[in-house]
This record gives sequence, structure tokens and C-alpha cells, in this order.
Amino acid sequence: MASNRESQNPVDLDDLYRDVILEHYRRPRNRGQRDDATVSAEGFNPSCGDEIQLSVAIVDNVVSGMGFGGSGCSISQSSASMMTEAMSGRSLESAREMSKHVQQMLTDDSFDLDAVDLGDLEALSGVARFPVRIKCGLLAWKVLDQALANATGEAVDDDSDIPTRVTSG
Ligand code: ZN
Repeated sequence: MASNRESQNPVDLDDLYRDVILEHYRRPRNRGQRDDATVSAEGFNPSCGDEIQLSVAIVDNVVSGMGFGGSGCSISQSSASMMTEAMSGRSLESAREMSKHVQQMLTDDSFDLDAVDLGDLEALSGVARFPVRIKCGLLAWKVLDQALANATGEAVDDDSDIPTRVTSG
């Protein structure tokens, strides 16, 4: 469970970013698994103990909705919450593209935030300055990649630091 300190400030983020992350942590969107899921996947971040289970409903190559479950730190859970909100209604191609951008934002110093419109997801950019928390932010996106790869029949690069697997689909 989150310590009191965690509930106040997950890491030393700028106020705006921190507020967005904490708001999603306290009031997660799309929590719970979807009955109409066409693919489900899960992943684990051993460095922090975060877990995410993701269920994705895909209709005509569009993400019609997503639900998530799991436990872990505020960054891992709010990243998943923001992701489910941002992905609904996107084509698979668009969803994969956005996943790529978010992962670049978290891991690549030269990523240009102004070049893409990430909406609330921009709040995760602050996490990039805290190397030990980056995997917390990445976890949900690695699980999403696994689910989308399964849906499109493509292979996904295994990340041994953040193991993911398809659970149904
Ligand atoms: Zn974490």
C-alpha cells in the first residue's frame, strides 16, 4: 500500500504533473476488467513490485475500450489509468504510435514534448528525471504493446526487465 509520503508526493515532480498523477491514482479511470475484452495481458515490474492486468476490447481495428487492474505505486497505477482513457476510440495503428511516443518520452532525453499532443499523458514526462521510477511509468505501456501485438499477430520485443504475457486472446 502507498505510504503517506507517497500519497503526498510520489517523487519530486513539478506540482502540475504531480497533481495529474495523484488525481488518477486516487480516482482511477476504467478500473476493472471488461466483459467484452478481445485480448487480455499482464505485466510485472520487479524493481518496484507493480502489477498491471489489462483487458482490451477491439472492434474493427479500433480500441473500443480498455480496463485495468493491478496494484503498485502511484506512478504505475496512474500511468495505466491515463493510458486507458487516452486509448479509447483510437485505431490500433494510432494506439501503437502513441505507446511508442510515451515510451520515448520516458526513456529518451531528446524527446520533443511539443512535437506530439499527448494530453494528460504529458504528466508522465516528469518521471523521466527519476531513473528508478521509469519502469513504473513504462509498465502499463509494455502490457499494452503485448496485447496489441497479440491482436495484430505481430511479435513484441521481450523486455526482460518488465516481463509481460498475454493471458487470453
Ligand atoms: Zn512503481
